[in-house]
This record gives sequence, structure tokens and C-alpha cells, in this order.
Amino acid sequence: MEKLARKKIQQLTPYQSARRIGGTGDIWLNANESPFDNEYVLDCRRLNRYAECQPKQLIDAYASYAQVKPEQVLTTRGADEGIELLIRAYCEPGQDSILYCPPTYGMYAISAETIGVEQKTVALKPDWQLDLASIEASLETVKLVFVCNPNNPTGSLVNKEDLVALLEMTKDRAIVVIDEAYIDFCMDMSSVELLAQYSNLAILRTMSKAFALAGLRCGYTLANQEVINVLLKVIAPYPVPIPVSDIAVSALGEAGLAKMQSQVLELNANRAYLKAGLDMLEGITVFDGWGNFLLIQFPDGDALFKSTWDTGIILRNSPLENCVRISVGSRDECEKVLGYIRNYYS
Ligand SMILES: *Cc1c(COP(=O)(O)O)cnc(C)c1O
Repeated sequence: MEKLARKKIQQLTPYQSARRIGGTGDIWLNANESPFDNEYVLDCRRLNRYAECQPKQLIDAYASYAQVKPEQVLTTRGADEGIELLIRAYCEPGQDSILYCPPTYGMYAISAETIGVEQKTVALKPDWQLDLASIEASLETVKLVFVCNPNNPTGSLVNKEDLVALLEMTKDRAIVVIDEAYIDFCMDMSSVELLAQYSNLAILRTMSKAFALAGLRCGYTLANQEVINVLLKVIAPYPVPIPVSDIAVSALGEAGLAKMQSQVLELNANRAYLKAGLDMLEGITVFDGWGNFLLIQFPDGDALFKSTWDTGIILRNSPLENCVRISVGSRDECEKVLGYIRNYYS
């Protein structure tokens, strides 16, 4: 029955998520998941009823955490659904396009491809900052510009002045979507206060990384009310299951936030430990990273990737030459991966 599928879908290679790639091992540092497995209590009553489309308690809790108004928050099945909703709502298939800056997160391209929307790319500069001149020259037909900050897989941050320049450049023409999936690891760097000034800004957030809830599937889009209202037109009627909303509300409560913040501090310390250890090895470049992962260039990235894979340490290989991305795990996991790499190069 594949031949009945849309041509675009027949040709599509699905996102090669860490989960799809698989592997067997006991140290999983390939999907930027949290090593913390926090416990929640579930209330399974009233599941005979549909959920609210946008559960008020959840919206209020996240708005308070993000320091925005509840009208500026949309909750979705992970940030990934936010990406898709933005493209479906703003891009006419076969006519409009999205623009993104590789190397970056793969889902912008895949979602656009699935919907039949053209993709334009303007590579990041060698210092991994935005190439604003080339972006400006490519804006025709572009409705959405995706900027991942901190960027996956490089770990880098975009200069705030450049984001402002991009928002100015695209005013009344396109929406700038800042993907802040990792912003909880460096909250001071959020662009959220720019929402007050720019109606063409949308910010993606998730509970999959710092909140240690990748399996929950809960994300947010922050934007001004006009954009949120557009997205509400295309979202499914009951996108957030009741248990998801209940757990997310609990994670956003006082105790939940305190736990998340202490885990962020611990993971940031582990990242510094891993970076310092790798920096001591010759021939290896560890890029500065602001999320819960590091991008590392090895003399022979593919061989190292395979060697760790075979011993049950699962990392993420990268299209960047000789680069491997390592998620920051527990201190024990960081010690083990560091020990293995140190041995490999001695
Ligand atoms: C993990 C990740 C997401 C997806 O988050 P979900 O909420 O799990 O869908 C989005 N953007 C980037 C850059 C990510 O790394």
C-alpha cells in the first residue's frame, strides 16, 4: 500500500531519532535525556471525560514559570508538535518556505517535508553564529525562520543582538521561531522578554530535557496572543492527555521546580567535569556547550563512535566531520565515558 501514499511521503526518510537507531548498552548518552528518573503519583479518576484543549492549570503553571501571560502559552505534545503546528498554520504547501541554519535540529526539515513546504538553509558561520546577510538575501517566500538556541547539536548560543536584528529584518514578513528546548540549562539567555516587543516571535519549550520528562510528551509554544490564536485553529481538539497535564502541573509546582533547578545545577557541573576531562586529551576539540550535551571533534569520530557503541556506551554520531555528541548523564556515567575515551586515546 506504500504506492498509495503521497509521493513526498514515499520519498521521505523519517527522523533518525536516537530511539529509532536503537543500540544495546547500559550507558545511554545519545538522546539528551535526563539521567534523573523522578517519581509522580497519578490520579486515574475522570478519565471517562475528554481533557480541556488547553488545560488552564497547566497553562497558568507554565506561564508563571516562563514569566509570560497565560494567553501567550500554548501546550502541545512535545516541542515537536509546536514545530509542526507553526508550519501547518503559516506555510502554504508548494508556495511558502521555512528557513533554518544547519547544523541544527532535524525536525524543522522533516516536518516541512512531510507537509510539502520547501526548506531553505543558510549555514551557521564557522563560529556558529547567524549569517544575517545571507539570511536576508534568502527571505523571499520564507514565512518561518527557525533558530535553535542553545543549538542542537553544537551546544552554542546565538548572539542576542543578532536575534534582535533577525526579528527586525523579518518584521511583518516572517515569524522567527526560537527553539529553546535547552534554555532551562542557561535560563538567563532566554529570549522571552523580546515577546513584549516583537509580535513575530515564537519560542518553543519542552519538558523533555531539564524537567526529565521526555516520555511525557509535553511542550509549549510561547508567543503573542495573535500567533497563539492562529495555532489554536490547527491544533487537535484534545492534544494533552489528562495524566500528562497532571504530571506536568506537579513538575511545575514549587517542589517540582526546586528539584528541576537542583538537577540542572548538577548536570551543568557534570558537563564542566566532562569538558575539563576531555580538554586534557590531545587532538580533541570540545566545543563550549550550554545544554545538557557536548559536541566533540575527535581525530576519528566514526571509529570512536563505533567502539563506544560496541562496549555498550551509546553516543550520538553527527553529520559534522569526526564529531560526536555526548549527552551529560550522571556523574558515574560521565566518569565511565571519560575513562573509556581516555583509554582509547592512550
Ligand atoms: C529534544 C528537542 C526538541 C523536541 O522536544 P520534545 O518536546 O521532546 O518534542 C525540540 N527541539 C530541540 C532542539 C530538541 O533538541
